[in-house]
Amino acid sequence: MSTGWGPADDVVVVGGGAIGLAIAWRARAAGLRVCVVDDAPGRGASWAAAGMLAPVTEAHYGEEPLLRLCLASAERYGSFARELEETTGVDVGYRRTGTLSVARDRDDQEALDELFDYRRGLGLECERLRGRECRRLEPALAPGIRGGVLVTGDHQVDNRALVTALLGACERAGVRLLRDRAVELIVQRDRVAGVRLRHDTLTCPTVVLSGGAWSAQLSGLPAGSAPPVRPVKGQLLHLRGAAGTGGEPALLSRNLRGLDVYLVPRADGRLVVGATVEEQGFDDRVTAGAVLELLRDAYELLPGLAELELTETVCGLRPGSRDNAPLLGGSDPEGLILATGHYRNGILLAPVTADTIAELLVTGRVPALIAGFSPRRFATAGAGP
Ligand SMILES: Cc1cc2nc3c(=O)[nH]c(=O)nc-3n(C[C@H](O)[C@H](O)[C@H](O)COP(=O)(O)OP(=O)(O)OC[C@H]3O[C@@H](n4cnc5c(N)ncnc54)[C@H](O)[C@@H]3O)c2cc1C
Repeated sequence: MSTGWGPADDVVVVGGGAIGLAIAWRARAAGLRVCVVDDAPGRGASWAAAGMLAPVTEAHYGEEPLLRLCLASAERYGSFARELEETTGVDVGYRRTGTLSVARDRDDQEALDELFDYRRGLGLECERLRGRECRRLEPALAPGIRGGVLVTGDHQVDNRALVTALLGACERAGVRLLRDRAVELIVQRDRVAGVRLRHDTLTCPTVVLSGGAWSAQLSGLPAGSAPPVRPVKGQLLHLRGAAGTGGEPALLSRNLRGLDVYLVPRADGRLVVGATVEEQGFDDRVTAGAVLELLRDAYELLPGLAELELTETVCGLRPGSRDNAPLLGGSDPEGLILATGHYRNGILLAPVTADTIAELLVTGRVPALIAGFSPRRFATAGAGP
């Protein structure tokens, strides 16, 4: 054991991606002694992601509770990013550029119109544009673009800078970071007593499990309470061109979405092109077919990208849940709190997850905002992801 006289930590956070680190930072600020365990912190899905903060553009039929949570998190992003930047000096690339979704043909246009009506019906702010108006906003768009929808409130953050800043903020705040792998939850008399790591054993009354796509692999959980979270593979590309700061103009000035592909321009000239959605278990290989498809789909929207340098191919595993919404709150045994299953919105949801889970840790009460996302909602739905 790490300490002979009782636990050194009030909380051990298993998994230091955007979710675990943000929780650790907020929980430490609330006065708790916090330890994060991760053998590769910040290098999971949070490193691979595109960093879109797009609650409106990502709003899907039947996911209204998730939409409300996403909107609540988007609202917090400005101050979250500012606080991180002030604490660490790291610019997290929070850019309020908006998102333009475009249609290449009639089928796309019909799909876009339907989504527009649905989003408008929910009272979300979005504007329908003709092809010509789209090209006025983004002159490099393909000439055939028929029309689009502009969402001025859907922004972006540089997710890699974000996890770098979160790591720095945790360190400054006095969060312990152990570069190790948690292998087993230690349970005594039906409640959490600690965590066994590969190279150590920790005693603590509370464990937050934020292991992303790997969350179900921790052993020691009571039968039936492994979180139903599975890996959903996403492949993505980084291109590089002009940054648009003097000299050549940037190819794109806001997030651009087609039906099968999205493009996210960073301030430093990178252009992120994503992403596949694949059920391939823990396979994290980049495939030639995915690169081909992503480039072809992106090229149809923005032909000028053929001139850019292809600098990186990336694969990440999204933590998918059965209803695409995160698992947030207490689980069995007592003392175990889940913060996982954020699927395609984990970067967006980091601020609201951190605030609410920290509040739960401090007060023992579930904040209303996450009451509908209890991990126990799956308890009667059978085992498996
Ligand atoms: C291609 C792609 C594009 C995406 N684009 C967006 C986007 O534009 N916007 C958005 O909001 N979201 C996006 N997402 C989703 C987002 O990346 C995830 O929802 C989010 O990163 C999940 O964060 P996390 O901290 O839960 O998981 P991760 O970042 O995967 O972190 C989990 C961490 O837990 C650690 N871990 C796991 N098990 C253990 C253990 N037993 N012991 C110790 N450590 C452990 C891992 O090492 C890892 O570091 C995208 C995802 C992908 C793959």
